[in-house]
Formats: sequence, structure tokens, C-alpha cells
Amino acid sequence: MLELGTDYESAIKKDQQYLWHNITPYNEAAPPMIAATGSGSWVTDTNGQRYMDGMSGLWCVNVGYGRKELAEAAYEQLLQLPYFPLTQSHMPAIALAEKLNNWLGDDYVIFFSNSGSEANEAAFKIARQYQQQIGQHYRHKFISRYRGYHGSSMGALAATGQAQRKYKYEPLGGGFLHVAPPDSYRRPAGQTIEEFNLQCAQAIEDMIIWEGVETIAAVIMEPVITGGGIIIPHQVYMDRVQEICRTHGVLLIIDEVICGFGRSGQKFGHHNFGVKPDIVTMAKGLTSGYLPLSATAVRKDIYEAFKDKTDDYGHFRHVNTFGGNPAACALALRNLEVIEQENLIERARLLGQRLHTGLLDIVDHPLIGDIRSFGLVTGVELVEDKTSKKPASLDIVKSIIAGCKSKGLIIGKNGDTVAGYNNVLTFAPPLSSTDEDLEFLMTTFKHVMSEH
Ligand code: PMP
Repeated sequence: MLELGTDYESAIKKDQQYLWHNITPYNEAAPPMIAATGSGSWVTDTNGQRYMDGMSGLWCVNVGYGRKELAEAAYEQLLQLPYFPLTQSHMPAIALAEKLNNWLGDDYVIFFSNSGSEANEAAFKIARQYQQQIGQHYRHKFISRYRGYHGSSMGALAATGQAQRKYKYEPLGGGFLHVAPPDSYRRPAGQTIEEFNLQCAQAIEDMIIWEGVETIAAVIMEPVITGGGIIIPHQVYMDRVQEICRTHGVLLIIDEVICGFGRSGQKFGHHNFGVKPDIVTMAKGLTSGYLPLSATAVRKDIYEAFKDKTDDYGHFRHVNTFGGNPAACALALRNLEVIEQENLIERARLLGQRLHTGLLDIVDHPLIGDIRSFGLVTGVELVEDKTSKKPASLDIVKSIIAGCKSKGLIIGKNGDTVAGYNNVLTFAPPLSSTDEDLEFLMTTFKHVMSEH
């Protein structure tokens, strides 16, 4: 057991001195919580205070904290073979690749990396190279959506459609284009959801044509925009996007980094829509966050264009030292077994429905503009005024989050700062949450809302 050997106060001092936190600006008035242990849907900090993690960390602890069987799977593999590069092979990677293929329900070949960003970077390189290898030499551009998130590295960030994350880091990878997402809540008056979604899909085809069909390599999208504020497409949108991609020889990359592994109420988010992506990227729930691991699943016939190439540039010239680490693969396999054995995908569907219905009780609250759910992901969009739909101020959003935290509940805030939509509260508890956990989450949130 790692011992800090200090109390919270001195740990915070060391934290300030030595640790650079992700994305969060340093705020002396609100120092970070220092988590010490986790069990089920709950984490305990170094002060002994318990919190229900309504966000599963960063949308990843799908099977909950404290799973001994996952730790053991990694431990045993570390003893047997802690590392071997996937320039060659090892058994846990083979077994996991087979399992993922099986979960995808189609014919895919798996490339392993360590993070969602890297999985997307690999997808971009594969898409560009594939297009070249089939003679489509100019197809280098990618289309994604504003408000979508695809990662923090220079290419994945370029694909991301949230401007505030890019300032000060530009220029990023070139050739990334964006269209508006199907944000049905904010569709123009008089339009049906279907009409609006078809119009949003049409924007992709228009862009392909205006840019030059022969220059577009792929479209990348999350099944549901999650970090950008829970934007759920209508079925007609996904059908039309798939049709547009096929018509124009454009690959469809689906980013399942959040929506995968049961979070959506199906094995993968895209299974809800019946689309067949050319490339699927995944991370987070693959190991439930216990160890770093990500994957890029590529349709078999795309992979075939890279096989048995005798020239020095025909194979995929991409290496990832730690990608597919044996212990991470062994742990991921065990994680998928837990999801299967405990029927956690069905559980996600059930909990998601309950959460959605439960929150509808307070839909008339003056601050609540919209409540949107997809599997066990819910977004509550806060507005100043229900008619104009003017986004609620960041102060109110932060005050609700702080109110929940003070009562032992962690929830998230997502959206797009630049567009002024940083107003969507998000809920994504572990799929293994108990009935009591969910009740606690809903009661606490409703209580906090009643104070605002
Ligand atoms: N894609 C999506 C949809 C994500 O939500 C994230 C992370 N939040 C990423 C990619 C990038 O993953 P990572 O942080 O592991 O690089």
C-alpha cells in the first residue's frame, strides 16, 4: 500500500509543488480532492470523506472500483510476462483481439495503443494510407463535428470540434474540417427532429462535394457527442451519414472511447443505430480505467490492403511501444468477462431508463431546458430561460456541481465554452451501480436543484 506518510494538508502542499493536473486551472481556494480508495461506485478521499462517482472517473470505470479479479488478472500476467512488443505477438493480445472482434460482431483486425487519442491517431494514419494504397492519392482530409471530442494530441485535437481546447496550440494537424452537430434541442423552430437531422447529415455531403470528393479520406464521429454536451443523433442521421460515406468512398470512423463497453446500453454505441463502421476506436471502458489500453479496430478488407506488401512503404509504419501491454490486455479480457457475467449492459440500459425517468420529475425546474439520455449517460442542459434557451451562466453550473460535491456526489459539466454551451451537467455512473447508488444520485441532485 502506498503511504503518503502525511496528513491532507501536507499532501496538498506537495500536490501544489510537484503535480501538474489535467485541464483544471489551479485554484487555491478549491484544492483538489485526493482520492485514496474506491469500492463499487464510491471513492473515499484522504480525509475519509466518501463520494459517489457519478462520472465513473472520466467516463471510464464501467465495472466500478475495487474489483479484485481485475487486479489479479494483471498481477498474474505481470508475473508471467510483463512486456513484449507487438512488432511480434503475445497470448493476451491475441485473446483480446479475438474477443473484441466478437464483441464488434463483425470482421475486424485490432491495433492496440494506450489512450483514446492514440487510437484515433492510428485510425487517421490507417485511413490516409489505405486510401493511398487503393489508388486514392488525394484523399487526406477528415470531417468531424463541432462539439465532438477526439483527444488531446495534435491530430486528435485537430479533429476535435471545441475551439477552446485548441487556442494556443495551433497550428495542429492539417486537413481536419468540421460541420455542425445534430443538436436537436436547438433546431430551428418549425423543423421536425428528423428534418433537422437530415439537414445536419446533408452538411457532411455538401462539405465532401465542395472540398472535392477525391480529397476526403474519412468522417470521424462519436455515436453520441458526450464531452461536448450529450448530443444524440436521430436514427435518420446515422443512416444518412453511413450512406453518404459509402456513396463517396469515404471511410466512417466511429469513436467509441466513451460510448463503448456497455455505456450506451449495447456493447458499442453504434450498435444502437445498426451502422457498420469501417474503423472503430475505443479506450476508457476497455479496461474500466484500471490500466491504460486502447484499440483501433479496422475492417478486415482495409487491413488486407496493408498485408504482404513487399515494398518498404506498403505496411503500416506505426509503432507503439506500450500499446497492447500483456497485463493491460489480460485485465481488459477479465473486464469484458465481468461485463458479460454480471449482465452489466442490460443493467446500464435499466439504470439509464430509471435515471432518465427519475430526472424527468424535475423537468419543470426553471433552470432545466432539456434532459437527454443514451444508455447510462444523461445530460441535463441548464438554461436561463426556457423559451430563448439562453445557456445558464457558468456560475450557476459550477454552484450546482459544488452543491452535489458537498453532499457527497460527483457529477460532470460538459459542453463548449466558446459557443457558450458550457451548461450541460452530465451523469455517467458505473454500470454496476446498485439501486441505492442510483437513488442517492437522483435524490442528492434533486435536492441541490431545489436550492437553485
Ligand atoms: N475520444 C473521446 C470520445 C473521448 O471522450 C476521449 C477522452 N475523453 C478521447 C477520445 C481521448 O481519450 P484519451 O484521453 O484517453 O486520450
